[in-house]
Amino acid sequence: MGTPDETTESGAGALAARRIRALIRRAGALAAHRTRALIRRARMSRERYSWRFVNIGLATAILVGSGLAAISGQNATAQAAEKQNDTVVQADWRVDTVLADMSAAAEKAAADQAAAKAAAAAAAAEKARLAALPWTLPSDARITSYFGMRDGRLHGGTDFGEFEGEDIWAAGDGTVSYVGYEEGGYGNVVYIDHGDGIQTRYGHASKILVDEGDKVSKGDTIMLAGDTGRSNGPHLHFEVLIDGEKVDSLKWLEEQGLNPG
Ligand SMILES: [Zn+2]
Repeated sequence: MGTPDETTESGAGALAARRIRALIRRAGALAAHRTRALIRRARMSRERYSWRFVNIGLATAILVGSGLAAISGQNATAQAAEKQNDTVVQADWRVDTVLADMSAAAEKAAADQAAAKAAAAAAAAEKARLAALPWTLPSDARITSYFGMRDGRLHGGTDFGEFEGEDIWAAGDGTVSYVGYEEGGYGNVVYIDHGDGIQTRYGHASKILVDEGDKVSKGDTIMLAGDTGRSNGPHLHFEVLIDGEKVDSLKWLEEQGLNPG
């Protein structure tokens, strides 16, 4: 048995009311569901957005970071490469310098060697030329006095500063024409006759090694240097006489092709 209302409302009216209530419930449920879905979606979206934001941030950070790292890495690599290149360039430069130095040294050595060879060749040629000459200097000592006027008198020869006992040799081929001691003048003296009116005279010897009449050749040792006669210390006084007249001995030897220096 129902209430009077229900009873009254039974039939089409009650059915309509139930349907309306059901519709309201369903609409409410749907609305609630939709709302919840919306909320959920919004929440998810926010979260997703947040995550996305975070992810973007991370990605950006990573990208930026790795980018920076890459850039700095590249910089470091570039710097290292540059440094290495500098080192290589410096090493190359050093090698080039060393090679250039070596090359210059080698060239200098070659030039020096060539110069030495040329000098040796020139010296050999000069020696050969002098050997071929009929005349030579009677000593290789330093010239201390030349032919000419001294204190109003003629110094008739060339003086060579000698050490006591040094070899004195014949200026050319010839015959010993006189040996002896001349007091106050030449001291121990040797004369050589070369023919053609040419004579040479050697004074102040400490010892005479030849005799009159001896044949001598250019360069033969005829006496030892000393300071006998009028002499202030050991020396050779050397004269050339042409037909008995004293001439400038050094100049005359030069005229024969010698180069006394
Ligand atoms: Zn003299």
